[in-house]
Amino acid sequence: MVDFIPPAARRVVVLGTGGTIAGRAASSGDNIGYTAGEVPVADLLGGIAAPEGITLAAEQVAQLDSKDMGFDVGLQLAQRCAALLSEADVAGVVITHGTDTIEETAYFLHAVLAPAKPVVLTCAMRPASSLSPDGPQNVRDAMAVAATAGAGGVTVVCAGTIHGAPDVQKVHTYRADAFASGDAGPVGYVEEGAVRRLRDWPRSGAPFALDAAEIAAMGWPRVEVVMSHAGASGALIDLLVQERASGAAAPVRGLVLAATGNGTVHHALEAAALRAQQAGIEVLRATRCASGRILPRPDDRLRDAGALTPVKARIALMLELLAVKKKAQGAA
Ligand code: ASP
Repeated sequence: MVDFIPPAARRVVVLGTGGTIAGRAASSGDNIGYTAGEVPVADLLGGIAAPEGITLAAEQVAQLDSKDMGFDVGLQLAQRCAALLSEADVAGVVITHGTDTIEETAYFLHAVLAPAKPVVLTCAMRPASSLSPDGPQNVRDAMAVAATAGAGGVTVVCAGTIHGAPDVQKVHTYRADAFASGDAGPVGYVEEGAVRRLRDWPRSGAPFALDAAEIAAMGWPRVEVVMSHAGASGALIDLLVQERASGAAAPVRGLVLAATGNGTVHHALEAAALRAQQAGIEVLRATRCASGRILPRPDDRLRDAGALTPVKARIALMLELLAVKKKAQGAA
């Protein structure tokens, strides 16, 4: 039986990780020369009215520039989200994050949490100290999504648009509306606090059990991204294979080839990738194109990542390798 929770008792918890949204510059006219991750998340909520019937709480999980994001913070976020979402009165979680790697954290949480309730990441392109900061409206919109009945999955909310974690990509270096969802299009929009949904909330398969102690002991599997381009060579891959053969401490376990077009790879890079695959390294091709997916061909010798971008394919491969390692250790 589901306990009845009176609407007034619903909570949205905002987890802070830093980013430009929490950035401060010396002058309000400076939107690029700021330091990211300075303003505490609780201060970012000042002056923003909670959606009706919602109480807000803030927790600082990290305070960094998301260009420096790592999966230990991702793991902390996943664990905190899982704990919070299991509480009956929590309607959803909002995460404030830098724009540079928000799509990676969103995809990681999508893959490991597969949450039924909403986990909404949001960000800003201008620092909190800006003459016209975009963070407060983005936070308000993200809260609206987190509080929406029936919302679910992992989304990124920016500039009034709701993007699904599998599809979202940062596509602009400067403009406030810096994200796009490629062919899939946005999940919807937030207009004056109301969600206008265009398609289903993003859903993923089963959650992936991440055990912090286990990961601390095993380490994250090292997966490198190597780009195919005009004039590419196999030199980088060969070096990685050599390093692994020499017994290096954290050898490469996986490679994502940022491939051209429909997953094509320069012949020299492909030859090296096949040698790496032969040496036991998992290789995945992901397209460099901003939209579309790789359509497989019967003569493909290297697996493809479908519609995943190279950075998201890297996360998928890391989790795949982690599952293999866990299984092997369990069997030993
Ligand atoms: N470098 C910043 C970050 O990702 C950029 C931003 O948030 O817009 O934290």
